[in-house]
Amino acid sequence: MIVADGVRADVLAEEIDAGRTPALAALRDAGGLHEISAAFPSVTGPAYVPFVMGRHPAHAGMPGLRWYDRARSLRWSPAQARSYSGIDIWHTDPDLDPTMPTLFELARPSLAGLMMIGRGSTHGRIGRGVGWMFRAGFVHFRGDLLGWRRVERAAIDEFMRRFARVRPRLAMMGVLSPDKFAHAYGGEAEVVREGIRDVDAAVARAIRIAEEGGWRESLRIWVVGDHGHAPVSQHDDLHGWLVARGHRVLAHPHLNVRNADLALMVGGNAMAHVYLEPAQRRRAWWPTLAPRWEPLLSGLLERPSVDLVAVAIDAHTVRVHQAQRGWAEIRRTHAGHEARWSYHTMGGDPLQVGGTLEQLDADAAWHASEGTPYSDAIVQLSSLVPTPRGGDLVISAAPDWDLRARFEPTPHVSTHGALLRTQMTVPLLLDAPPRQRPQRTTDVVPSALDVLGIERTAAAEGTTGAGAIVFDGRSFFPRTR
Ligand SMILES: [Zn+2]
Repeated sequence: MIVADGVRADVLAEEIDAGRTPALAALRDAGGLHEISAAFPSVTGPAYVPFVMGRHPAHAGMPGLRWYDRARSLRWSPAQARSYSGIDIWHTDPDLDPTMPTLFELARPSLAGLMMIGRGSTHGRIGRGVGWMFRAGFVHFRGDLLGWRRVERAAIDEFMRRFARVRPRLAMMGVLSPDKFAHAYGGEAEVVREGIRDVDAAVARAIRIAEEGGWRESLRIWVVGDHGHAPVSQHDDLHGWLVARGHRVLAHPHLNVRNADLALMVGGNAMAHVYLEPAQRRRAWWPTLAPRWEPLLSGLLERPSVDLVAVAIDAHTVRVHQAQRGWAEIRRTHAGHEARWSYHTMGGDPLQVGGTLEQLDADAAWHASEGTPYSDAIVQLSSLVPTPRGGDLVISAAPDWDLRARFEPTPHVSTHGALLRTQMTVPLLLDAPPRQRPQRTTDVVPSALDVLGIERTAAAEGTTGAGAIVFDGRSFFPRTR
């Protein structure tokens, strides 16, 4: 499996149509190029959780690129604030729920290359050794994108050498340069397309390795994206606005704030978690918070940068607001595969699904957002907002906006993180026609297990989980039992 980081499905299709990616064209002919929904927030790190664990990132303990650990559940976290875009990248694996197995733990031997999440891979994690990290970090922070591409190509070489030697049951590699170039030059830029050709070359090399080793027949190759990309020209200084309203704001990189009354965790940068009264170790539901914080909610909705603001009414209910279109409630009943969602347009139709909907299953809930500006909005908001590590206000930015004007080291013209369709839609290339339409990146793990013939009942080696494994996604290659 190759992760085409930040590659838009439409740009990938253009490259295939233009005949510049023969190996990807062969995949599309064999199994199709599918447009599926990423996880919200649509940002690298959290957005890797679905195709590594089959769970929504917040269900696995990673609600955002930046988040605040209200419960003080983390062992190493001086300011209780995580940012995986910095040094905290070392914590992605341990921050995830240890009872939920990764694909690397379920399908062994396994190999990870340049993966944000690689817990349990048996044959190393290319890109996470100190030397690799130093070189990658060094070129990244200088904004040297061509230097990054050189590092990445060297990492792909090392990955392929190990792939040939180990012949792993599962190998996953991230190709990150398309995302980095898309931020700097836009999602359709020629340098992004060059990154797509690197993905194509990697697919061709893997096939050649398997042919030379005599195991081509057993090799399966899929390509998946983690998030989309959309142009951005306006950067809101949400941090400055909150300070100007008289708040004491804890936000990266200013983590030494005494008696902060809120923590602002922007990640994407087109989404943000706002944690209210962060000294409280237990999160309160919105009905308790509203008397003090309703004016902040109203103020946010008046900002042109803010599209949706969602709050948790209780552990199963989300209220979502949009300035012009009013508010509605999303209610989830039952758990796991029996989950059902209702959408009640009590104060409007912010998600533009057309009216109240009752008792939708995962399939119907996904279809409900078709033709709206959002992708899989009902399930995604329900999966993120009322979780233990979620913010009290969850913000999705308006088109052409992101939410972090200060302290952003590199200028960028393209963004992601929001619930908007352009930022949430990702490509999935398969090498065989699926039996059901793939809908979400969470579908990848149960489908891979079915293709590999791995049962979901056994406790995974190296994890503390036991019994049947529950995924948020469903298999698009269901086995006939
Ligand atoms: Zn990015």
